[in-house]
Amino acid sequence: MHAPRIDGYDAAMKFCSDCGHALSRRIPSGEDLERLICSSCERVHYVNPVIVVGCLVERDGEVLLCRRAIEPAHGKWTIPAGFLELNESMADGARRETAEEALASVEIIAPHSQLELTHIGQLHVTYRARMLSDEFAPGVESLECAFFRPEDIPWQDMAFPAGIFALRLRFEDRDSPHLHLGELRWNGEGSRFDPSNYVINEHRKMPIA
Ligand SMILES: [Zn+2]
Repeated sequence: MHAPRIDGYDAAMKFCSDCGHALSRRIPSGEDLERLICSSCERVHYVNPVIVVGCLVERDGEVLLCRRAIEPAHGKWTIPAGFLELNESMADGARRETAEEALASVEIIAPHSQLELTHIGQLHVTYRARMLSDEFAPGVESLECAFFRPEDIPWQDMAFPAGIFALRLRFEDRDSPHLHLGELRWNGEGSRFDPSNYVINEHRKMPIA
């Protein structure tokens, strides 16, 4: 039996997008999960996981990071990444996010990691990428952008566990790249921003050029 549970994005959704009446939470007949259901037209508003795409942009052994100009995690560093748009491939989304946040034009080399964060309903997909020119600069969502050597990564000032784990996995197999799959599982306690509260469950890795 699934525990009825709705949180995250849909917590802010209160009204039916079809008719404007209030939504309530209940389990539809024939299902076993709580859903958001319109009190008037009975439409069920399903909420499903979203995909976050990003790039590990590498140049001369260094990796590109952006310092966030927006919440959450304003002022913290992270890899360029963001929500996948409709009608967009994951690789296109990763390139777009890099162009928006670091004003950098990049070429995808290979997929690097696909980490599931089930507690917030997100799949984080990252690609290894290289610069197509030397030009980069902070976009409107970034305070600054810079390339870092592995030993200089500001781990204590990094924004999100998903990006931190993607970087760690990259540095662990720098000389023999892999595609990493797994669930980045929060331990259910403590800060969701603290990577020490996470482990990778069912980690699978396969060589990739
Ligand atoms: Zn309705």
